[in-house]
Amino acid sequence: MRILIVEDEEKLARYLKKGLEESSYVVDLALNGTDGLHLATHEAYDLMILDIMLPEHDGVTILKHVRSAGIITPVIFLTAKDSTEDKVAGLNIGADDYIVKPFSFHELLARVRACLRRGSHKTSSELKVADLTLDPIVRKVFREGKKIEVSPIEFSLLEYLMHNAGQVVTRTMISEHVWDSNFESFSNVVDVHIAKLRNKIDKDFGVKLIHTRRGAGYVLEEQD
Ligand code: CA
Repeated sequence: MRILIVEDEEKLARYLKKGLEESSYVVDLALNGTDGLHLATHEAYDLMILDIMLPEHDGVTILKHVRSAGIITPVIFLTAKDSTEDKVAGLNIGADDYIVKPFSFHELLARVRACLRRGSHKTSSELKVADLTLDPIVRKVFREGKKIEVSPIEFSLLEYLMHNAGQVVTRTMISEHVWDSNFESFSNVVDVHIAKLRNKIDKDFGVKLIHTRRGAGYVLEEQD
């Protein structure tokens, strides 16, 4: 799942990005309102975390643009403003939750999960291909009912392959969706992670699900 953080306090922003990445989310970071507004309206996210007091465009302006563009992605406001009027104003223009600084990372993570669970976004439901299942909310993978431990990056990679089950995805598509927008595309990095994932979800099972399409990319499907 991809999360956008728009926050101008760089130290806090990097801390949040790191924490969310350790919890298996793919995170893009914008440190000002202009970059935030661009990413929020041009990229697809499952959740946005917006600071309100930002240089250039504030969080409220970004959210107004997002909602007027018809984007229904859940939004959490993160802000030092703690008056009741600010909270009400934020919720009235379409924020889904509101967290006042200072906060604990555990509280933020709990709210992120709750927001994703409530969200009607299609990525919130369990993915299933043959006997392989992936639950994007509790971040767990099972094959034949057995839990499989995967790293955060392997989880994101598998989630992307399962979303596109039956369709070939290229290395470029994978790197754009699984790594953040600053990732330099080296195809062997993708190959290395595909190999690790195969070891975990295919090696010990009779039916292989991840297939290589020479010169094209990869496809996850149950083949006859
Ligand atoms: Ca700020």
